[in-house]
Amino acid sequence: MKVRIHQIIEESPRVKRFFLEPVSSSFDAFLPGQFVVLENEKWEYPNRNRSYSIASVMQSSTELELCIALNENGVFTPWLFNLQVGDTLGCSQPQGNFTIKSDDISLSLPHVFVATGTGIAPFLSMIHEVLKKSNNEIYLVYGNRVESDILYRKYFEEIVVNSNRFKFIPVLSRQSLPSISTGYVHSQYKSILKSLGDARIYVCGWKEMCKEARNELKALGFNRRQYFFEQYD
Ligand SMILES: Cc1cc2nc3c(=O)[nH]c(=O)nc-3n(C[C@H](O)[C@H](O)[C@H](O)COP(=O)(O)OP(=O)(O)OC[C@H]3O[C@@H](n4cnc5c(N)ncnc54)[C@H](O)[C@@H]3O)c2cc1C
Repeated sequence: MKVRIHQIIEESPRVKRFFLEPVSSSFDAFLPGQFVVLENEKWEYPNRNRSYSIASVMQSSTELELCIALNENGVFTPWLFNLQVGDTLGCSQPQGNFTIKSDDISLSLPHVFVATGTGIAPFLSMIHEVLKKSNNEIYLVYGNRVESDILYRKYFEEIVVNSNRFKFIPVLSRQSLPSISTGYVHSQYKSILKSLGDARIYVCGWKEMCKEARNELKALGFNRRQYFFEQYD
């Protein structure tokens, strides 16, 4: 389908939030955690398209939000970052299996979400869903380099104020601040998981982080029915 950009918010020098509306048809309902594939219809494969997690919290047939980081040396994002409000591009319907496991046992357990950078995108709607469906604790461990890279911070801090079941744990690898943990996501979720025992774990981000998390989770004794990955690469 063809979509039109109707709003762009510059979150940081390297990250933009794109709000897309269908030109003629409408978006199908998405499951929290799914992604769409954007397309430059004038280009050939493999450069022609790239996948992006849906960052919208609420369902809408007329709007989808995406949160995208610029890769200056990449193919697709330099083109995307030059587009303006009103420009059109190709977009698939929502797809993907990185979604909340909503069987009774899973929903009775604590949930641990681990993201770095724009890997936070699918967690906006996934955490919203788990807050509605489960009564157990929800942890979000979110890694970035510096404080100004933390995306959707206000949104998550508001959930903390409104729900004592939600714990927001930002982590910075390149900045030391009294109020935020320093280091990488791995040590944070490991200590949480050691205290929890069983849990459902969702991890989203770039290849290296996912690879390390997979090894750490296996070493802690978790298996593939307990953890789920969306790997960007
Ligand atoms: C299911 C799925 C969902 C995705 N959702 C998002 C999303 O919500 N937001 C988003 O920004 N991207 C997301 N991506 C990544 C996206 O599809 C592109 O790969 C990304 O935008 C880079 O495209 P490019 O053509 O500019 O770079 P390319 O020319 O394709 O170069 C990509 C290579 O550069 C490296 N790279 C690129 N960007 C980064 C980065 N920020 N950090 C570390 N390494 C990087 C990777 O190793 C990758 O192999 C998702 C990927 C998948 C598979």
